[in-house]
Amino acid sequence: MTPKPFMVSFALAALTLSTTFCLQPDQQKVLLVSFDGFRWDYLYKVPTPHFHHVLKYGAHVKQVTNVFITKTYPNHYSLVTGLFAENHGIVANDMFDPILNKSFSLDHMNIYDSEFWEEATPIWITNQRAGHTSGAAMWPGTDVKIHDSFPTYYLPYNQSVSFEDRVAKIIEWFTSKDPINFGLLYWEEPDDTGHSVGPDSPLMGPVISDIDHKLGYLIKMLKKAKLWNNVNLIITSDHGMTQCSKERVIELDQYVDKDHYTLIDQSPVAAILPKEGKFDEVYEALAEAHPNLTVYKKEEIPEKWHYKYNDRIQPIVAVADEGWYILQNKSDDFLLGNHGYDNALAEMHPIFLAHGPAFRKNVTKEAMNSTDLYPLLCHLLNITAMPHNGSFRNVQDLLNSATPKAIPYTQSTTPLLSSEKPGECEQEESYPYFIGISLGSIIVIVFSVVFIKHLIHSQVPALQYMQVEIAQPLLQA
Ligand SMILES: [Zn+2]
Repeated sequence: MTPKPFMVSFALAALTLSTTFCLQPDQQKVLLVSFDGFRWDYLYKVPTPHFHHVLKYGAHVKQVTNVFITKTYPNHYSLVTGLFAENHGIVANDMFDPILNKSFSLDHMNIYDSEFWEEATPIWITNQRAGHTSGAAMWPGTDVKIHDSFPTYYLPYNQSVSFEDRVAKIIEWFTSKDPINFGLLYWEEPDDTGHSVGPDSPLMGPVISDIDHKLGYLIKMLKKAKLWNNVNLIITSDHGMTQCSKERVIELDQYVDKDHYTLIDQSPVAAILPKEGKFDEVYEALAEAHPNLTVYKKEEIPEKWHYKYNDRIQPIVAVADEGWYILQNKSDDFLLGNHGYDNALAEMHPIFLAHGPAFRKNVTKEAMNSTDLYPLLCHLLNITAMPHNGSFRNVQDLLNSATPKAIPYTQSTTPLLSSEKPGECEQEESYPYFIGISLGSIIVIVFSVVFIKHLIHSQVPALQYMQVEIAQPLLQA
């Protein structure tokens, strides 16, 4: 082998390596969609041909364990930060922060105070800091200024904006002169109907069918814009829903004087702030009050919920059993469907489907955590993750092995406590990374061996000649 073919071989080997490592995942576009309150098994309640199309040509996870409490704002923020509620600070839809002396309330849309959101950095900001652009259509928190930033493009929250108009904006941003690589799309159903009629009602059927049509519309518009084959579409939700009944109501007024505490958040996880000097009285009145109510002092909240180490978690937390409803007084608003219960309950779990160039086709995985989505998104967007509670390894098998490797990201393997600010992370390498390293190294070694063998071989006649010369004197002797 002459040096020229060797150089060609070496160049090929180098090319293999560079293809493995340097395929810019900038080419990867991601659209993250949340249908609020879409329980994992709604897929099978009525025919959902568009969801099943995505399922057939994409990846599906059956059971996604979301974060406690299984409410809208805590879970939407976990999806985009990879953090448990105690770490990202949006611990409920209704909160009181005793340090800031401020309240946060979804019911009153009093959610725009940046300080509530800044215990974490959502992925759209990290994406933009990496030089990319993001676009958000109504995803919770995307119209709040967080760390002095909004998404590059966003719609101020307005429930009356139709799904079609939200999709139109997403398509516009993906196809603009300076296209986004990351889009977030949110729709309020089937949560609204689930609350009002309950998930077991036959009235849920038409709502799920309608969402299937909406997904069909989204697919049609992505195809029309020639985005369907190059956008990674992830369809998920924040939580499921369970059936409630007026027969299963726990009325706090029956057990404790309402003047002795403030009820910050109601059901199914009552956040109770006792008035000064009334802690013991309130706790003792409630501790054994009802067989379907478990009452915790803040420091006794089970570790498994990762719901303790934050000032916004109140001194007493009372958790109802599945399907039970906490009301201060029976005259208060009651909903036939609710969520917020223990995140181990299957009925609280959301849907998870993914389709696109990065994802395997027709693959079903049993389980993941909703916090695992964040490192997956960071991988696809080629951005370095902030410290988080998820695991990329948990979800890596959803991806094509050919998916380019992103810059190594950080991952926290132990729960981050509020007192222990994110920063203690370990690096986690991906399988494609090791395959790439191994493959590239093997190619380089093989060509080196071939070249050295050839070099030795080409020197053999000269050596043989030398041996003859050396041997001659001995013969002569
Ligand atoms: Zn929700």
